Amino acid sequence: MEDCIFCKIVKGEIGCYKIYENKTVLAFLDIANKAPGHTLVIPKKHVKDLDECDEKLFQEVMSVAKKLSSHYLQKGFDGVNIVSNCKPASGQEVLHFHVHVIPRKQDDGASLILTPATQKANLEEIAKKLRLED
Ligand code: AMP
Repeated sequence: MEDCIFCKIVKGEIGCYKIYENKTVLAFLDIANKAPGHTLVIPKKHVKDLDECDEKLFQEVMSVAKKLSSHYLQKGFDGVNIVSNCKPASGQEVLHFHVHVIPRKQDDGASLILTPATQKANLEEIAKKLRLED
């Protein structure tokens, strides 16, 4: 897509610090660098978000995310966060599907933790509303 910043990275119109690429997927360092090695994994084809991504492409992206997680653990990181924001309400700022792969050190001080609700939730009611049948 013309004015999509990640499409511009795929086309080479904007530079990036590439970590990995194959035919359909590209992985590069996130400029925000929430922890050293913070990486974005994207499909080369423009897909707006997780919801618009077909199953096959999703699996290709996630397979690279998993490959990079193992690679970072082998490189000496202690853990990895895998995060994908879907739609602006969740914090998605760039509307080209991407998965954050964030390598972590034991005491790196980075935090992605959502704060727990202050009121006790009625889990039975929530589950009744949200349950998905095949
Ligand atoms: P999200 O909030 O999930 O949409 O994440 C978008 C991410 O893209 C943010 O963490 C930004 O730091 C990152 N980002 C935006 N522009 C660039 C860029 N040109 N190169 C690398 N990362 C970028």
